[in-house]
Amino acid sequence: MDTHDDDAIDDLLATEPPEPDDEDLWHLYQEELAQAAHEQARYTEHERRETLANAAEHMLSILVDLTSEVRCQNDHHGHCQTHGWAQTISTCPHGRAQELLAQINLNTEAANRCRRISARP
Ligand SMILES: [Zn+2]
Repeated sequence: MDTHDDDAIDDLLATEPPEPDDEDLWHLYQEELAQAAHEQARYTEHERRETLANAAEHMLSILVDLTSEVRCQNDHHGHCQTHGWAQTISTCPHGRAQELLAQINLNTEAANRCRRISARP
């Protein structure tokens, strides 16, 4: 089975299975059924990965729009004064997003701005 066929496993299940006492046909039927199930599972995994990749791209484009282009400035407590982030358990989300976007090779103007911001000393 070289190409994905959505109905391959359904077609096999819809056909009358061979008599179990015909061992050769029964064995062949079982092999075809296992192969169809394998192909279906593989295609489903491919679809899942593609969906996740598309979702990640979409989330990154949202993150670019949400992320401040202004660099964080932490006070002596480690709180970001630029963005009003007063937690110390995690650092300012704008700073983390700027670092993430700088690491990812997004070829957008906003991502490039973030890259320049995070490269500042
Ligand atoms: Zn900040």
